[in-house]
Amino acid sequence: MMKFKNEKKLVNIFLIVIILISICFNILTFKTNYEVNKIKTNKNIVMLTFDDGPGKEDEQIMDILKDYNAKATFFGTGINYEKYWTDAVINKLVKRMILEGHSLGNHSYYHIKYNYNLNKAYKEFYKTSQMIVEIYRDNDIEMNISNIPVRMPFLQYYRGLNSLQNKLNINYFVRGYLGCDYNEAVCGKKKILKQYTNNIRKGQILVCHTRNYATQWLPDLLQYLENKSYKTANFTLGDYYFGNYGRLIF
Ligand SMILES: [Zn+2]
Repeated sequence: MMKFKNEKKLVNIFLIVIILISICFNILTFKTNYEVNKIKTNKNIVMLTFDDGPGKEDEQIMDILKDYNAKATFFGTGINYEKYWTDAVINKLVKRMILEGHSLGNHSYYHIKYNYNLNKAYKEFYKTSQMIVEIYRDNDIEMNISNIPVRMPFLQYYRGLNSLQNKLNINYFVRGYLGCDYNEAVCGKKKILKQYTNNIRKGQILVCHTRNYATQWLPDLLQYLENKSYKTANFTLGDYYFGNYGRLIF
């Protein structure tokens, strides 16, 4: 009788442990399969990203990045990538992005709020990724559509995004720390720099924008990173590939 009681107790403990493990697993994996915010690493590494281009402003941004031997990811929109075939200036600077080892990302086609219209979002993201594949191909690089990093415009987030992720066959949407560099009239150099430098952590992704004003604060940020012995990573396979440091997590 005593033995039977103990066995029952053991079974109950076992069940409780299993339930606790599955609860923990659910909490830990919540959201991680749609959005990533950083590289899980103990190395001094950050990812610099510039949204809303490609635009002529990227020329100066690339000059500054080059001075500090930094590599970035440019999350461009389809309407701007399309200029690769129609605008000689954009064509040249997108080629330069690839040549200098920066990564091209997908930031939707029209940069709108999709408000749960996932079908529309899918069509836009797919079209833009296809365009990026074509651009890489034009520069003698074969890129798998699933390897193009994707960032939602306005860093939109809502439930159901995982179905969009599955349809696009991508591993995640890329978020990151968003400062206010997109509104220099309100923020100004001091505040922009303070926001970014206060948020430098191992593996951090910084969200910046393709704007002329980047020429004001970007050299200071890169100097700060250099002083703190931080390097940059992006999505391009090679020495600067983020995967050399860890995996992307929320
Ligand atoms: Zn944007």
